[in-house]
Amino acid sequence: MTAADPRTIYLSDYQPYSHLLEQVELCFHLDPAATRVKARLHMAPNPLRPGKQDVRLDGEGLKLISCAVNGEALNVVPDATGLSIAAARLPSGAFVLETEVEIAPEGNTALEGLYMSNGMYCTQCEAEGFRKITFYPDRPDVMTRFKVRIEGDLPVLLSNGNPVAQGEAWAEWDDPWPKPAYLFALVAGDLVNFPDHFTTMSGREVALNIWVRPGDEGRCAWGMASLKAAMLWDEQVYGREYDLDIFNIVAVDDFNMGAMENKGLNIFNSKAVLASADTATDDDFARVESIIAHEYFHNWTGNRITCRDWFQLCLKEGLTVYRDQQFSSDLRSAPVKRIQDVLALRARQFREDGGPLAHPVRPDHYIEINNFYTATVYEKGAEVIGMLRRLVGDADYARALDLYFARHDGQAATIEDWLAVFAEVSGRDLTQFKLWYTQAGTPVLKVSEDWADGRYTLTLEQENPPTPGQPEKAPKLIPVAIGLIGPNGDEVVPTQLLEFGEAKHSYVYDGLGARPVASILRGFSAPVIVERSVSIEDRAFLLAHDSDAFNRWEAGRTLGKELLARMITEAAEPLPEFLTAMEALAFDDTLEPAYRALALRLPSEDDMAATLFAAGHVPDPAAIHAARDALHLAMAQQMRPRLAALESAMHVPGAYSADAASAGKRALRLGVLGLLARLDGGSAAREAYYDASNMTESFGALAILLEIGEGSTVLADFEEKFQDDRLVMDKWFAVQVACAKPEAMADVVRDLTQHRGFDIKNPNRFRAVFGAMAANHAGFHEADGAGYDLLADWLIKLDRLNPQTAARMSTGFESWPRYDIDRQEMMRAALERILASKGLSRDLGEMAARMLAR
Ligand code: ZN
Repeated sequence: MTAADPRTIYLSDYQPYSHLLEQVELCFHLDPAATRVKARLHMAPNPLRPGKQDVRLDGEGLKLISCAVNGEALNVVPDATGLSIAAARLPSGAFVLETEVEIAPEGNTALEGLYMSNGMYCTQCEAEGFRKITFYPDRPDVMTRFKVRIEGDLPVLLSNGNPVAQGEAWAEWDDPWPKPAYLFALVAGDLVNFPDHFTTMSGREVALNIWVRPGDEGRCAWGMASLKAAMLWDEQVYGREYDLDIFNIVAVDDFNMGAMENKGLNIFNSKAVLASADTATDDDFARVESIIAHEYFHNWTGNRITCRDWFQLCLKEGLTVYRDQQFSSDLRSAPVKRIQDVLALRARQFREDGGPLAHPVRPDHYIEINNFYTATVYEKGAEVIGMLRRLVGDADYARALDLYFARHDGQAATIEDWLAVFAEVSGRDLTQFKLWYTQAGTPVLKVSEDWADGRYTLTLEQENPPTPGQPEKAPKLIPVAIGLIGPNGDEVVPTQLLEFGEAKHSYVYDGLGARPVASILRGFSAPVIVERSVSIEDRAFLLAHDSDAFNRWEAGRTLGKELLARMITEAAEPLPEFLTAMEALAFDDTLEPAYRALALRLPSEDDMAATLFAAGHVPDPAAIHAARDALHLAMAQQMRPRLAALESAMHVPGAYSADAASAGKRALRLGVLGLLARLDGGSAAREAYYDASNMTESFGALAILLEIGEGSTVLADFEEKFQDDRLVMDKWFAVQVACAKPEAMADVVRDLTQHRGFDIKNPNRFRAVFGAMAANHAGFHEADGAGYDLLADWLIKLDRLNPQTAARMSTGFESWPRYDIDRQEMMRAALERILASKGLSRDLGEMAARMLAR
């Protein structure tokens, strides 16, 4: 179905649109069942496409009321995907094309185009939702000025750009910046605002608003503070100033993803913008901060400079993720942020890259573009930019970005344009580097070492494993940051960057007095898997001495992984060296608590399954679960005498503050409570729950109790307190599934789908239950296959209502090739059942087919 499917779109087929769009005027007359949309498109021939061209407009599910060219009615009949007007029926030169259509936002459960959420109208147009609003050339390289009139009997009527006029039940908006249709937005509803303002670097005043449902005003302050911090940071670090008089953010409960960067009118999943101490955890606060920044940063990287076509998606997403990661890193702790980002990269992107859904950062074909808003495009796309920066250096990175903004402002650009500014500024040939954009798969970096006569030799080899459609690959240019540490802990060779671009290469270091210990891939300088056999002594040495904070953490992580693998496959006992090293880290007061909390976290079960599979084993989910439990217990026993003291030392008294330092203490405290719970039956965690003064503490304690099977009383208490709070109840749903005993998980899921609060139409709620299910590794992979069947059943149900979210959630199955034959067959059968289901969407259909390698 993938490559051979007639609906497949290819990068190589790109050609510019037939016409230029000089301006568009839209008029919305809002009605839940019958909204009328009038569009006036001011079109002119495109000199890039000589000869008189037909006009083709995209349009889906639109009832055409009328069509006219230059004021004269035209009889046209739309087809399933749009409307064509033959060149012969068009005047030569410029003309105005007018249409009127009718749509029904209240029945729109796909949450794409114009839809309703709690009585409020809102839009989601990326990637191809605008075609569900009106007939239009719905492609990112058609950029134009939008003037919008909204008619509707609602107090708040918003669109992009600046407000120009308003009256009783109408408002007009004008966006001076040309934009593609995917950045269009409209919001209408009974909303209240949380206002503020920002003075830009050139002294312009910008009105800021966060619009929410009445009652949510008290959860806007953090989002607003984050927005102002992001605006200031983008001025200081990238020299980018905001370009309208007003910036609006709207919170919506029913939303397919996190948020959307519509010009001047960002629309957010309420989960990604609302936060208060008693309803949001520290992690939620950090996520709100970074998503607000991400969408704001898109104003330059995405909106002012957009993508020529959807194959270039990483041009805006990879760069904007890179920018939001830098922002969080500057505001919080850089090493902690780097570790968190690498953990997420390995959990989601390495998983994707190592399975049937692997695709390049810039794909070259797709069936449904919504299926390519992936960890590869976003997170690996950001890593590729990080590598580019390491290679050219900070100064050339800054010069390249300045040139990029100067040269491409107002344009729809490509990865070639992006790389060209780096090549020009640095004088480098980036041909080999470009393979990071075009070749899928995670390279394996094999490291071997030799020490003789004062000479240390480091040999690097790279393997680029085959991925779907790409059986063979050329070596990539891998920036490998290394340092050599002497026996007393000194850096005998301080950090240097090896530009490793061959299949194999040796680096020689002469004149060393003693055998050094190498610290390889410092700061995780490239998104690769390192294979290197290191003695326990050397790992422990790095854990104690590495000056690179990331690699110091990584040493403990690798030691933990190797140990867990031996516990699973050889029934090894927890290693004393590991336990003492972990204890030393956890109690090292010279390290920040957030870092220590991360060090205490063992690799996830899914990570262990991937690691074992890569090492040639067939992972047994129950054995992985048991070994991880055993290692947790051993850690708890090792640290037993000191846990209570650390727990109380990390108590943060007084009013809640979301700052990184306080959050770090709370994280370490919860890590300690998790260990204590394995010794005291949960009494300390229960106490922490009832004493909690914020959501981080109460939810953290609840999760710990559920994990040891002691959570039922607290769970009921939590439900009673928060039953009317939709965002908190999402947590309540999710944590029960994530922390269920493996054998009980399917029943827990079934019960929750019967709960009065379960709503299949709300993506947050659906994800709370079924996303958490994929996170319960041993539960999802229970030998009877109940987890697989449940997920398939519900994906098929959801697909009828919301194909985009159904397709995203289907990646629970992407890891099927790792497991034993029985599980493989059950997972494949579930995918086959999805593929054979009636009325299957293009979205879910493409995903199931790719996972089955069709
Ligand atoms: Zn984005």
